[in-house]
Amino acid sequence: MIITVAKSDEEVKRALEPYRNIVVVGCGTCATICRTGGEDQVKEMVEKLMGWGKNVLASMVVESPCDVRIDRRDLRRIEDEVKRADAILVMSCGVGVQAVGEASGKKVLAALDTIFLGEVEHIGRFLERCRECGMCVLNETEGLCPIVLCAKGLMNGPCEDMINGKCGVVGDEADCVWVKVWERMKSEGREEDFLRVNPPLDRSVKVGAAKVVW
Ligand code: SF4
Ligand code: SF4
Repeated sequence: MIITVAKSDEEVKRALEPYRNIVVVGCGTCATICRTGGEDQVKEMVEKLMGWGKNVLASMVVESPCDVRIDRRDLRRIEDEVKRADAILVMSCGVGVQAVGEASGKKVLAALDTIFLGEVEHIGRFLERCRECGMCVLNETEGLCPIVLCAKGLMNGPCEDMINGKCGVVGDEADCVWVKVWERMKSEGREEDFLRVNPPLDRSVKVGAAKVVW
């Protein structure tokens, strides 16, 4: 799940300043679950925009705006409005914003900030679980992501800030993830594996031009 939060009204208003005729597009998948870009939030946004003196030509929730094929299909239903729009305000993650821009050929603006890939504990409570490092180490860490769960993102631990199994960087309430990895390995009789040093994260995997996976 891609977790998003709403940008402030001031930021959205500022981005929309040069544009009067607006189409609003929401997301029927992640942003609906996050309650940042579903039917209700799109409706609220339309009311807000009208209050700001904008002319809202159309609004719709696209099933998954991150899929450019679905954008092309769904936006056809409001083709005339999209043609007349000065800008499309997209209430989805950054992927959706860019895909809507590609599908429509129009100026697109983001209404949300994309903050992380998360696990859904329940609606409204999302836990960060992955930073898409491109070289997943979950097989070496008992299924616990050290990049997200260790305050320093260490590939080996625990560090000197661990106190009685807790992370001294975050505070008493947080377990040190490396202690949890140790405990899980120990319960499986894999103490030797714990002593194996994980190589540092290769950050070059995530830099450079946008990647394409076929
Ligand atoms: S190691 Fe963590 S950040 Fe990297 S891919 Fe796996 S879960 Fe994601
Ligand atoms: S105490 Fe553990 S979780 Fe906290 S920074 Fe050190 S290794 Fe990471």
